[in-house]
Amino acid sequence: MLIMKTGYYLIFLLMGFGEILYSQKLMQNWLTFYEQSGYTKTPNYEQTMEFCKRLEIVSPFIKVKSFGKSPEGRDLYLVIASKDKAFDAQRAHQKDKAILLVQNGIHAGEIDGKDACLKLLRDIVVTKEKESLLDHVILLVIPIYNVDGHERISKYNRINQNGPEEMGWRVTSQNLNLNRDYIKADAPETHAWLKMFNEWLPDFFIDAHVTDGADYQHNVTFGLEKHENLAEPVRSWVNQKYLPMISNLTTNGVPVAPYISLRNHEDPMKGLQSGVAPPRLSTPYVALQNRPALLIETHMMKDYKTRVEGTYQTIVSTLEFLNSEYKTLQQTVTETDRISMNRIGQKFPLRFETVDAPNGIFHYLGFKQTNQKSDISGGVWTTYTKEPFEADIPVYDSVKVSKFIDVPYAYLIPRQWQEVIKRLSLHGIKIRELSKPIELDVEMYKFYNSKWQQNPYESRHSVSYTTEKISAKKMFPAGTAVVQLNQRTSGVALFALEPESPDAFVSWGFFDAIFEQKEYSEDYVMEPIAREMLEKDQNLKQEFETKLNTDTTFAKSPSVRLNFFYQHSPWWDQNVNLYPVARLINPVQLPLKD
Ligand SMILES: [Zn+2]
Repeated sequence: MLIMKTGYYLIFLLMGFGEILYSQKLMQNWLTFYEQSGYTKTPNYEQTMEFCKRLEIVSPFIKVKSFGKSPEGRDLYLVIASKDKAFDAQRAHQKDKAILLVQNGIHAGEIDGKDACLKLLRDIVVTKEKESLLDHVILLVIPIYNVDGHERISKYNRINQNGPEEMGWRVTSQNLNLNRDYIKADAPETHAWLKMFNEWLPDFFIDAHVTDGADYQHNVTFGLEKHENLAEPVRSWVNQKYLPMISNLTTNGVPVAPYISLRNHEDPMKGLQSGVAPPRLSTPYVALQNRPALLIETHMMKDYKTRVEGTYQTIVSTLEFLNSEYKTLQQTVTETDRISMNRIGQKFPLRFETVDAPNGIFHYLGFKQTNQKSDISGGVWTTYTKEPFEADIPVYDSVKVSKFIDVPYAYLIPRQWQEVIKRLSLHGIKIRELSKPIELDVEMYKFYNSKWQQNPYESRHSVSYTTEKISAKKMFPAGTAVVQLNQRTSGVALFALEPESPDAFVSWGFFDAIFEQKEYSEDYVMEPIAREMLEKDQNLKQEFETKLNTDTTFAKSPSVRLNFFYQHSPWWDQNVNLYPVARLINPVQLPLKD
């Protein structure tokens, strides 16, 4: 009996031992490049994709798909993890699951998210430790978004950042920052991304980065779209459900923090501030598409392992949360999409500002700092001591809308503005065409005081201006593009087409030619006409004289003085400084092509 018992124990022991050996061997075969390096290095593009393709070979739940090409010819990959093998958007949406998209390496030097995701995918489908995370979620991972930047490898790409040993570069091979390109969509990578995004329409989005900024103890910080730039009811879902979870999270044993933007770098006690960024950035863009969007920013001074593990823990916690809240999330985004189809005639927020009053307290885990005068810079030299301190500091996190716009029934865009029409459709905006000419009462914008930025920003010289709204009766020919606002993506259309939006296509320079005067009068032709006009029109005479007395630039320039009369003559081109995109306010039965 005793012998038999011992024998059983032995068998059990051997079986257990065998399992341990098996799982050890499994782990050894499946260590990621980052783990093999002792948590100090990150794999290059080829090594990264080799690992993803190995996952695809061994697991029926993984598919690796290209969603486009970079300017240097590399494939942009999406890794799809689905227990139902729902490897295309259509099938995925038929499943009763939330779709989470995790994007890594938009700033390729900030690559923690990629190594966290490779490890996570392994833990889900190989060791199966985290297999249950796919129970109610379909996981989409972009291992590296800025693939060309990722291959511009150097030790010297991120002066503020503590590892990995070598890393990629912030921007693309065309020197464009993809995280400023979401609305204007100049980069081929953005074109591919927008097509992929609108096809998959994930229910939740994560963008993984590494910070710059002050030194402190927190290793993970986060930005969450939660203000009026995210429509209801998904805004309430984010604030009431997700925000408490992420706010109470700890990573590597340290509480996560909201993105730390100090009001005063010399004195953290003055508090934190946040605001709403324009949708040229990833998370505000995704918010415009009615989806919750989380920005993970690990702290640059922490070692690579701490940062990758912190990112891993944040993504895992989000996945756990989504596995329990997938139903409420799906219902909420569907409802938000429905509501955003009914914005016509309502007020829509285009600009935001942070209120200059604290609305909360944050328990900040900082490092003591000294501030002294620098003889090198002449300014303040801050030194962090690495001596920890903690304090409750004020948070300035209340945001108000500084500019609302009345949502029209439709925008009418003359067909010749093809690039504008093409970019709008990249955003998933449905555009139709007039099948017959039609005369319509519309609102239009006139531009004044236009001024171009001297230095390029993201390859463009933005223009600033003031606007005046005018009413017009106008004939629109067949072929005119029509953007009706009773659609899911109405928010993106409003941000792209309203001149006062911070990301208006017109301010990015898509319509620069409309600001140019193309015909000029000869002085000797204008002189007698000007005289005649002065004689006939007392008001004009008065306006001219006032300008002479009050505007010295005007008074000093003979050509500008004569051009004043040209501008008031019937020869003047009425289309100069006139925005060609018209706002149709009242719903009208439009003749539209199918
Ligand atoms: Zn970044």
